[in-house]
Amino acid sequence: MDTKDCLQLAEILFPNLEYDRAFFEEKYKIRNLPSGAEVTRLAPSPTGELHAGALYVGLINNRIAKQSGGKMILRIEDTDSTREVVGARGRMVEHLAHFGITFDEGLNSEGEEYGDYGPYIQSERADIYRAFLADFIRRGFAYPCFMTANELEGMREEQTIAKVRPGVYGKYAKSQSLTLDEIKQRLEGGEKYVLRLRSGGDFNKKIVFVDQIMGKLELSENDEHFVIAKSDGIPTYHFAHLIDDYLMRVTFVVRANEWVSSITKHLELWQKLGVAPIRYGHLMPINKKDGSTIRKLSKRKDPEASVSYYVEAGYPKESVIAYLLRLANPNFDDWWLAGNRNTDEYILNLDELKRNSRGPLLDFVKLDAISSDFIASLSASEVTQRILNWAIVYDKDLYAILAKHINYLEQVLGIERGGEHARKDIKKWSDLRSEIGYFFDELFPRSDVDENALIPSDKFREVRNELVDDLSDEKFYDDSLEIDPWIEQFRVLTQKYGYAKFGEFMMDIRLALTGKKTTPNMYHLFKVLGKDKVTRRISGKIYHGE
Ligand code: GLU
Repeated sequence: MDTKDCLQLAEILFPNLEYDRAFFEEKYKIRNLPSGAEVTRLAPSPTGELHAGALYVGLINNRIAKQSGGKMILRIEDTDSTREVVGARGRMVEHLAHFGITFDEGLNSEGEEYGDYGPYIQSERADIYRAFLADFIRRGFAYPCFMTANELEGMREEQTIAKVRPGVYGKYAKSQSLTLDEIKQRLEGGEKYVLRLRSGGDFNKKIVFVDQIMGKLELSENDEHFVIAKSDGIPTYHFAHLIDDYLMRVTFVVRANEWVSSITKHLELWQKLGVAPIRYGHLMPINKKDGSTIRKLSKRKDPEASVSYYVEAGYPKESVIAYLLRLANPNFDDWWLAGNRNTDEYILNLDELKRNSRGPLLDFVKLDAISSDFIASLSASEVTQRILNWAIVYDKDLYAILAKHINYLEQVLGIERGGEHARKDIKKWSDLRSEIGYFFDELFPRSDVDENALIPSDKFREVRNELVDDLSDEKFYDDSLEIDPWIEQFRVLTQKYGYAKFGEFMMDIRLALTGKKTTPNMYHLFKVLGKDKVTRRISGKIYHGE
């Protein structure tokens, strides 16, 4: 087809186009940002829960934009309506906001869009895509392909037998040579068609592509006449995302490495667009250890692949972000160990990301360690508030109990808080029941239902009534008594009750009071539990081990 035919074809396929490519290029002006400022984006498809990997990718893009004084965009890629899950879009936006991934442009969880480069939802950008598809047709870079599913199947079989690469390229791209008249005839016959790129690439030619994370890659040129718009007129990911990145004036894309195999397609699209490609960095996925193998975190198999897992378990958002930063930059540990806790201040090191291109391993032991460190850095009142905020949504029964004792909860959380030997028993809010539930009569561990609940020795049963009398003395709850003289009182009692060892006696008291072997110091326990709870528990009244 010559130029005239191409123009006519564009007119036939996109009649009465209201806006053309130039209109949109003029509308979405080149951004006036200081040099070095990067425009990045996160472009999730609303096909379900936000994946931990998407949060990771979002975090990295967010840092690149923020650290460079640039902008970050949220774009919803919903061109595949068959995979869309109702409500997923709003939940994704909420989850991103929950973890502090904020966008300069995009949309909120109600779907309200903001920013000068929108719409930010692909299904609202049909006019734009039509203008660019028409532009490709006009310049001979795209054409309608009428191959049916059967024909494509036949082609694949032929390729298998001939032992050649599968796909629509070279001589297999049959519709590329149709004349304008033949196309018109088929259109009149109502035949369905897709639009394919008329590739000019040669698979035997190598190109060097510098990936911002993976480094230098030597790849074969694209020669596939891949689909750029489906038979319903909706563009494919390849075409849509590239036009979006172009018009949103994105400068730097970090995305999952599943897309690296498509990069030569995208490079050819940029070339046909007549615009220098933006920079890309492809990020290895988060892996997990599964038995003796290491595999990609799977949305289908692993609950921890969804960010809702961390929210529901009650990991503070700062802990999760700190953990993800550490996955990206192993040297993050040095920064954290130096006592830094405000992750907003951490500067992501992209060079380290390059070195770490093997793909990080999800490690809950490390996540828990980071999280307990973070929680230990909060004040008792802050932790109280966060626990209540979490419980009201995710553990209503717990909330009902805690809400009755808010001041007491704060006192409990204040035990051994701060300082060098701060308590680190809570890693996430759902640990509260098992770690400090015993402070509340309603949550006291019952050995008849909870196999972890421990009971004191037989010896203790013999002495408990007398001990209740002894422990009724106010001096055991006296705030002015220092720890040493306070403990001394128990040495005296150890002898009185004929316990062989002080430690055994104290452990029995601890078990009677808490049902647990490890708890904060008894000195604090007595004061916070108070005389009433202590004596009831020693007497066995709130003790279910009998
Ligand atoms: N919508 C694509 C996805 O969810 C985004 C890929 C990209 O960042 O370009 O996988």
